[in-house]
Amino acid sequence: MAAGEYVSVSSQADTERADLARESKELATNPEQEHAELMSIYVKRGLDEPLASSVATQLMTRDALSAHARDELGISDTLAAKPVQAAFASAATFAAGAAFPLLVVLLLPNAALMWGVASSSLLFLALLGLLAARVGGAPVLPSVTRVSCWGALAMALTAIIGAFIGASV
Ligand SMILES: [Zn+2]
Repeated sequence: MAAGEYVSVSSQADTERADLARESKELATNPEQEHAELMSIYVKRGLDEPLASSVATQLMTRDALSAHARDELGISDTLAAKPVQAAFASAATFAAGAAFPLLVVLLLPNAALMWGVASSSLLFLALLGLLAARVGGAPVLPSVTRVSCWGALAMALTAIIGAFIGASV
């Protein structure tokens, strides 16, 4: 789980790094074109051309690459993918998520155990997916959906394997 999280966020970080490398090369080789690009982004956002031009000039004088990263590529410091944090959050929340269903096992009567544990596990997984997304600064809905779906799949597989083993013993 944590490993998967690390891989997916790492590849996102790789993409961002590659985008930034290409952007800084373009800035070095073709600054006028890059200035026009930034300016047209600001015009689209509603500035008039002279203002857009001077905003682009001033931002590029201060820190051209981060102006382009933010406004052209949509990468900012707070958005930048953090694979290690994501993996850690995923591992921590997964461990915590396993603890809650154990509590449910202690509290529920035997007859209600199977569905009680399955549904409460899914609920906790969804909650913790939400928490992990908040901590990692990721979009909430995809995180919750992913954690719940993989959790449900893992439980279904476990149940199927359990049924086979149970039947053959
Ligand atoms: Zn650019």
